[in-house]
Amino acid sequence: MKSAKQLLGKNAQCPCCSAQIFSACCYPLLSGTQLAETAVQLMRSRYTAYSLADITYIQKTMSGPAAEGFDAAQAKQWAELVKWCGLTILDAGSQNKQAEEDQVEFAAKYVMNNLLHVLHERSQFKKINSQWFYFSGAITPHQPIIY
Ligand SMILES: [Zn+2]
Repeated sequence: MKSAKQLLGKNAQCPCCSAQIFSACCYPLLSGTQLAETAVQLMRSRYTAYSLADITYIQKTMSGPAAEGFDAAQAKQWAELVKWCGLTILDAGSQNKQAEEDQVEFAAKYVMNNLLHVLHERSQFKKINSQWFYFSGAITPHQPIIY
């Protein structure tokens, strides 16, 4: 069976809504040929990984409190159930490649059981051994609406 990554053509628009093609955006990060240079890049690639139900990538890009409570099987089930429909970066953080930590705020929309949900989160990212990790997040709750 082909993975979701293979099914999504490299010339397709990247799922992270960057308006770039997949092969020039999140694909090199998901395929492990490149590391995220900034926290916002990692955030975008994690959105794309969720949209492709690539939980292996989700798991290997998290650390600290975020990783501690993470259930990979549950996350996989959830990612396959929901349909992602857009990412808006509300605060891209410093975008400083030399930073050791950064914060990104985003709103990710998805449909589950005919309800449109917004995952609105301010995420904390940390660099460990020159690699960015998703560290923790504070969610602003929103009521789902009928889609
Ligand atoms: Zn992307």
